[in-house]
Amino acid sequence: MTRTIAIVVPVFNEAEGLQDFLAALNTVCDSISHEYSVTFRYVFVDDGSLDASFARLAAHDFGTRPARIIKLSRNFGKEAALSAGIDAAQDVDAAVLMDADLQHPPEMVREFVRIWLEGRADSVYAYKTTRHEAEGWARAGLSRAFFWVINRGARFRIPQNAGDFRLINRPFMDALRSLPESERFMKGLYGWIGFRQIGLPFTPAARLHGASRFTTLRILAITFDALTSFSTTPLRLMGIAGGVIAGASMLYGIYIIVERLLSSSPPSGIASLLALTAFFGGVQMIFLGLLGEYVGKAVTESKKRPAYIVAEDIDAGMNALRESPAPDTISDQC
Ligand code: UDP
Ligand code: MG
Repeated sequence: MTRTIAIVVPVFNEAEGLQDFLAALNTVCDSISHEYSVTFRYVFVDDGSLDASFARLAAHDFGTRPARIIKLSRNFGKEAALSAGIDAAQDVDAAVLMDADLQHPPEMVREFVRIWLEGRADSVYAYKTTRHEAEGWARAGLSRAFFWVINRGARFRIPQNAGDFRLINRPFMDALRSLPESERFMKGLYGWIGFRQIGLPFTPAARLHGASRFTTLRILAITFDALTSFSTTPLRLMGIAGGVIAGASMLYGIYIIVERLLSSSPPSGIASLLALTAFFGGVQMIFLGLLGEYVGKAVTESKKRPAYIVAEDIDAGMNALRESPAPDTISDQC
């Protein structure tokens, strides 16, 4: 039985590197479909690129391989673009999610497919092995702290260095599509869904063209997003910290009273009072801010806005084959 796999690629301002990417992807897909009984099709989601990405994709000659090119109405972010791609790839047995900048080595798809075909996993993902050198110790440390908080007490695990580079099978895709939230922290959703997942180590290649869109500030924003969607640990920490501070200040109060009773010197004065007031003011602000994050999330989700809007959706490649492939043409697709 020939199975169909969609390669889902979010694209945001990647015009420069697209040609190289498409060539590498094609080579690998051709070779894998010679080795295994699978055919590939492509789903590109242009996430509101400002350069010629969409035009290049639309003009590209995909040969006999079906390709769908979806253009979102603006930049919705990688997570939304991936969701759009998965939604569009409805008629396949599995999907491979992959970046367009060749940082995800296409050759790894072969391993994904092999493990999936052997029936060993519902999702095969790649995790980075060289986080520290590439990102600096501060960022790696923060990342570790983030995953500690998010995985704490949760019934599912979000693996630390795993990204979006992965194969997901049909049930996994359906599960992803059934999740209603519009702010989608995909890494968390993969973990939440469960099923059998296998991770393979990989070393991300350097970006060939352009620079990463994920600045430290953006990563911080995503971190907050992820924390508030997947963990209530910060809320709990807030209560614990409040308790500790209240307890400590009570002890301090008792100490002042005892000091007053036992010694003849006057109480320590207004300085300590001011310091305490300012301290509690600050602590309250921090915690109110945190609470605000959660309330804000509730407001956003209660609007039930879709994760993305499609502006254009074109079929390239040999689409006639998609509808009713004649038996002898199936092998031509691969
Ligand atoms: N991307 C996207 N929308 C965005 C930002 C990025 O679709 O708003 C795509 C981008 O084109 C690439 C992938 O997501 O295919 C990963 O982006 P990038 O290389 O900037 O991130 P990094 O490799 O640093 O995680
Ligand atoms: Mg990249």
